[in-house]
Amino acid sequence: MKKFAPASISLRGLILIFVLLAVIATLCNSLFVAYEVQRDALIKSALEANRAYAFKVASGIDEFLRSVDERLGYSSKVLGNQLNDPQVLKDEVKRLQAQDTELNSVMVIDATGKALQIYPEQPLITGTHIDSNEVQEALKAQRPLVSHAYETATGNLIVFISHPVLSPSGQYLGLIGGSIFIKQRGVLHTLIASHALLDGTYAFVADDNRRLLYHWDQHRIGDVLPFSPTVDAALQGERGTMEAANYKGVDMLAGYAQVERARWAVVTQQPREQALSPLGTLMRNMLVNIVPAGLIGLILIFWGATLITRPLRHLANSATQLSAPEATERLGSVNAWYAEAAAIRSALLNSVQLLQQKLGRLRRAAESDALTGLANRRAMDEGLRTLDQSGQHYCALALDIDRFKRVNDTYGHDVGDLVLKQVASIIQEHSRAEDLACRAGGEEFTLLLPDISLATAGEVAERIRLAIATAVFEQIESLTISIGVACRSDETPTPEAILKHADELLYQAKQTGRNRVVVQTLAVDAID
Ligand code: GH3
Ligand code: MG
Ligand code: MG
Repeated sequence: MKKFAPASISLRGLILIFVLLAVIATLCNSLFVAYEVQRDALIKSALEANRAYAFKVASGIDEFLRSVDERLGYSSKVLGNQLNDPQVLKDEVKRLQAQDTELNSVMVIDATGKALQIYPEQPLITGTHIDSNEVQEALKAQRPLVSHAYETATGNLIVFISHPVLSPSGQYLGLIGGSIFIKQRGVLHTLIASHALLDGTYAFVADDNRRLLYHWDQHRIGDVLPFSPTVDAALQGERGTMEAANYKGVDMLAGYAQVERARWAVVTQQPREQALSPLGTLMRNMLVNIVPAGLIGLILIFWGATLITRPLRHLANSATQLSAPEATERLGSVNAWYAEAAAIRSALLNSVQLLQQKLGRLRRAAESDALTGLANRRAMDEGLRTLDQSGQHYCALALDIDRFKRVNDTYGHDVGDLVLKQVASIIQEHSRAEDLACRAGGEEFTLLLPDISLATAGEVAERIRLAIATAVFEQIESLTISIGVACRSDETPTPEAILKHADELLYQAKQTGRNRVVVQTLAVDAID
């Protein structure tokens, strides 16, 4: 198939490139949007799960503190009217600690801060004043209190849960309190570890100094966090979610809540990366599902593009060869199945027609004499060659108007031209469709008569001579013509020989008085 221009790209190529670009852009966009939506959904669900988890842990701790306070409250009632009885004190703290194993120690302190009784027993402390800020604060507050974590004189890191002891008359006598040693695996571990999740999510509890009361990494319990936006938010009493980096700079999806009975913060969090780990699989699945449909789509587009561009390609190929003889046929065979292609095809067909008409006109103009419309010398030579090649018999008449110079001289060149035209049409009238009348030059004519005998050719010549001699010419009085007639024969076998001989006979006619026909004389056996 012919190419239009080596560097130019085809319409089908262009369509495919644009469609491919559009498909790739749409695919990327879909994947990007899907990625964003899935990511947001995963983040939202992780945050929600952590918020619920934090709240659940905070409620569990709160419930625990409430039950401890209840038991301390009961003991404080027992002790309210017997605080001076050491045996009662001893029995009560022992009973309380035995009942409440989450409390690592239980102690009773009077309103001055003196430790009246401790269980498990610590003789060094019993009877001494407890100076710690946390105990002093509880004595001052005279209400149930949960402390933050602090280090005791004996070096234990504890939180202290206390309840006031009042006399039956309502006088403040001191407090009964329990300590939880937070570095030991205790109640917080039981409460939180039972909620532990497997997907990297973990919870920690911090007090209002951001000191860790619980952490899955036992070694970190007691550490003070340099900063923690989640702990700070929970300590404000808020409950919610937050995307924040932890102290190591790892992005976390966190939920937080406050323990109501203590200024403690519960934070549950999951590394963002871990929460988003299903994304890769989701996107892969999506791609795997999209690819087959995409391939089918591309095949359909390729097929469609071929179907649409084929008529245009064929039309374009035909358009480069509009002057070829088979152009109409080629255009006609193009399947222009849609409106635009059909319009182009019909426009091309019109152009072919116009072009061929124009070529025909040019060809005829090139082969005919401008003045008389008869065949010119070139066409005559062509006609002679054809007759010669066909091998058929034919005769040639050489015609020359008599004394034409005089016509010109007497009436002028223009009148001469009109006379020439009239003579030409008389010659034409006396010839058959298959004859070829030519203007050989000036006022000389040749008439080629295929498939005719010498005698008949002589008759034709005579008829022409007579017609001219008797014709009425508007511009001149009269006109005659002399004619030589020669045919193909052994003596005159070639076109040149025939014409030459016809000319000689014409000359004879002129010599012998003009206005006459001289026919070739042939030996009987010379007739072709
Ligand atoms: P004869 O043939 O009888 O011997 O005499 P003639 O006068 O016809 O002879 P000649 O060949 O000498 O003259 C031919 C004249 O034909 C000369 C020229 O002026 C004239 N002629 C040739 N071509 C044209 C033409 O196209 N138009 C006109 N008006 N005259 C032409
Ligand atoms: Mg002449
Ligand atoms: Mg003449």
